[in-house]
Amino acid sequence: MIVKNAELETVCGITSKLPENGQIEVAFAGKSNVGKSSLINGLMNRKSLARTSSAPGKTQTINFYAVTGRRETKKEAQGMVSADEKVYLVDLPGYGYAKVSQNEKQKWGKMIEDYLHKSSQLKAVFLLIDIRHDPSANDKQMYDWVLHNGFSPIIIATKLDKIKRSQVQKQVKAIKQGLQVEKGTRVIPFSAETKQGREEIWSVIEGFLDA
Ligand code: GDP
Repeated sequence: MIVKNAELETVCGITSKLPENGQIEVAFAGKSNVGKSSLINGLMNRKSLARTSSAPGKTQTINFYAVTGRRETKKEAQGMVSADEKVYLVDLPGYGYAKVSQNEKQKWGKMIEDYLHKSSQLKAVFLLIDIRHDPSANDKQMYDWVLHNGFSPIIIATKLDKIKRSQVQKQVKAIKQGLQVEKGTRVIPFSAETKQGREEIWSVIEGFLDA
């Protein structure tokens, strides 16, 4: 996607009504500090539109980023202009804060569950896992929970630049095993530093535009 415009359009808290968007949505979930803001900024070509996850105790929200752009298509290569398209990148609250109370966790869970059930435009959930580490119990729980709510998570293995190239396949395998992913689950390594993996993620998202 050649991004032309990106903006934070809607912020939803626990009591907010979810937006009824006219365009498709893809959501991003992950443990705090996994690199979710960096990934979303990288996809949008923005430095700091998506904020680093809020500190424990701060309001946890679902943020809807509207992205407008053009696809690099064959038509373009032939000198024809393709139309603008719009998608929503949906930033789900980060999880794994030790200090969050049980009550807050429940409210947070209910908010995401509501969103997964109610959005008619949500096409996919990307689950982010740090490529350096085996998935945690929290990650596995999140994977199973998203699956249980009707979406097969697509995995993004973040911070790719932090490991040696020779380690990538081994870590991808460890992530698949740790999460016990469904057969055929895609794991896309990504680096916010080098932007490696960006095109692959966009091409997955663009695939939903065509569906
Ligand atoms: P979030 O809490 O999931 O939104 O995580 P952030 O995007 O704020 O990233 C957490 C920390 O990891 C920050 O210090 C980022 O600079 C760093 N980080 C995120 N992605 C990458 C990456 O791909 N490579 C490297 N080297 N650092 C990253």
